[in-house]
Amino acid sequence: MKRHAIIPIFIPHLGCPHSCVFCNQRAITAKSGAVSEEDVRRTAEQYLSTLEGSGVEEIELSFFGGSFTGIPIEDQSRYLAIAKEYKDAGRISKIHMSTRPDYIDRRILDNLAFYGADVIELGVQSFDPKVLELSERGHSPEQVFAASALIKEYGMTLGIQLMIGLPGDSYEACMDSVRKTVSVAPAIARIYPTVIISGTKLAGMYLDGSYVPFTQDETLRIAKDMYLGLTGAGINVIRVGLKASALINDGDDSVVLGGTYHPAFRQLLDGALARDRIEEALAGCEALTVRAGSKALSAAVGHKGANREYFAAKYPQKRLRFVSDSSLDEHELRFKKDAPR
Ligand code: SF4
Repeated sequence: MKRHAIIPIFIPHLGCPHSCVFCNQRAITAKSGAVSEEDVRRTAEQYLSTLEGSGVEEIELSFFGGSFTGIPIEDQSRYLAIAKEYKDAGRISKIHMSTRPDYIDRRILDNLAFYGADVIELGVQSFDPKVLELSERGHSPEQVFAASALIKEYGMTLGIQLMIGLPGDSYEACMDSVRKTVSVAPAIARIYPTVIISGTKLAGMYLDGSYVPFTQDETLRIAKDMYLGLTGAGINVIRVGLKASALINDGDDSVVLGGTYHPAFRQLLDGALARDRIEEALAGCEALTVRAGSKALSAAVGHKGANREYFAAKYPQKRLRFVSDSSLDEHELRFKKDAPR
């Protein structure tokens, strides 16, 4: 796999007309204001000063913030022109952005194609009409299908972002979103647990009791099945869980009130996936050696040793050994049944 890095450029959606219940962009944009062309160049240069010559093979300049194509097209063009300069000079490989499904049409895509945009991620969140309505997303599942088809028609890489645990959500609704995502066949996907941030509508719903978030365990179970459904269909899940910096910007005094925010959510997921595989291998034997590549070992043992403790408590009579094996691929796990004592 190519070594890959992203230069993130946060473009707040100033004057966004929507009011998604989980969104704290109003608070962020009120403080951060518009991003100037100098800001974009400064950020790009800062990142490139460490990335260039570091062996990274693919650098993407990524406009995120939710709704890049919702800002006036002249502003999009100003930002894209800078990205194109870097791409034409061979200093970045790809131009990447995230946006809403209802901000995709031929005029927008013609402009993105003119500037050489490569990857478009759609903030879909859910394919369930009730979840979308209760979350005040302001777009329909049909708009997701239409936007996805159009992005593919233009030959751009499609990404789909899904959330877990929005108002009205359920395990079934999440898995239905996975099935519909698979039918759309994006190249990449992200899975984000819902986080309740102070100052949002969702925070009000949580505090007045009209919204009850999933527990972390429920969210993890759903995330695991969503991940397996998406990756099983060949979709590259590039992120599970939010970074703290994506939730609350510098200088913003918002706080996380609830929902699933765990700084190591991805590690929890990797641990849960490894636990299932080990448990399957452990069935029908008394002693098992788990050999693991460098990164797979921490997943096998579990976050803070959670899997080790789980197996010791559940199968006290069985013997389980974890062994690091540098001959394996870093993500690989292999099992060897050992002779009983
Ligand atoms: S998440 Fe919703 S409310 Fe927030 S900026 Fe995006 S579209 Fe607007």
